[in-house]
Amino acid sequence: MSSRGLPRLPAVRDLIKLYGLSAKSQLSQNFILDKNVTDKIAKCANIIPENSVVVEVGPGPGLLTRSLLDLGVRNLVAVEKDRRFVPALEQLAEASGGRLKIIQGDMLKVDHMDILARFGNPTSQDSDTTLHLVGNLPFSVATPLLAQWLGRLWEKSGFFARHQSAMTLMFQKEVADRIVAPVSTSPRGRLSVAAQSLCRARLAYNLPGSSFVPRPKVDAAVVHLTPLDQPLLAVTFAELEHVSRFLFSSRRKTLRRIMRNWDDRGLVCLEESDLDANVRPQDLTTEQFNRLAASIVRSNLVMPP
Ligand code: SAM
Repeated sequence: MSSRGLPRLPAVRDLIKLYGLSAKSQLSQNFILDKNVTDKIAKCANIIPENSVVVEVGPGPGLLTRSLLDLGVRNLVAVEKDRRFVPALEQLAEASGGRLKIIQGDMLKVDHMDILARFGNPTSQDSDTTLHLVGNLPFSVATPLLAQWLGRLWEKSGFFARHQSAMTLMFQKEVADRIVAPVSTSPRGRLSVAAQSLCRARLAYNLPGSSFVPRPKVDAAVVHLTPLDQPLLAVTFAELEHVSRFLFSSRRKTLRRIMRNWDDRGLVCLEESDLDANVRPQDLTTEQFNRLAASIVRSNLVMPP
């Protein structure tokens, strides 16, 4: 038995052989087979087991899942798209003494309420319970999934309707850098503004591509996101995305040149937002960016779709 009560289980490496679980590149399957590494990722989530429910996305053969259970997590739902992993995951669920439940489905489509219902325990809905979203995400799904979750966080719907929440997610390193990018750095862009308008975002752990089997062409990093008590959003999340897409498509131009697009009305917006017209979109703080977005939306300036 391991210290937190998981009975001895076959090694994940052996499970992969036993069930013939060769990696499917169309599902971005790059596994981590070193428990020291999955333990480190699980620790990045800062989970307090007594006050937490955890949703793991894309558990695959389940090594990160084991690390979460070894941390003492009491209430874990894992959502996996590929049916081939279900028997191995069900074996782990059985060994977990009721702490782990498996849902086979696509995380982009599964109803959050169906997942929350699997926690069963009414205390899991308590206001002092934190909902942790954890995953070594498929790179191909990671960005749309984060965008979807940020939108739901803004709406306070689904996972984010009542819970305090935190996200601890693996991304391709280049994407992770964009999420956490500070002002006036080259990775600063739409993803930075979207994430930082709603969350505190920090890079928690860098992983070289060599940590994965098969080895992807890129490196990876874990990002930890916690919702801001006072979000900086001054428009709807969809409006912010729209303005962001427009401004960052001209990231080499100064705000003055971009806003001239609408003649005087654009320049009035800039003045109204009290911003330096000589800087570029990536030089705006998240708060300044939202101020400009609010002014653009209020003035009904039409942007290309
Ligand atoms: N967590 C495992 C690990 O660390 O070794 C596997 C990580 S692998 C990068 C991504 C996993 O996500 C795969 O098991 C894949 O089948 C699964 N997956 C891909 N798309 C998914 C989706 N839309 N919803 C849920 N799981 C998905």
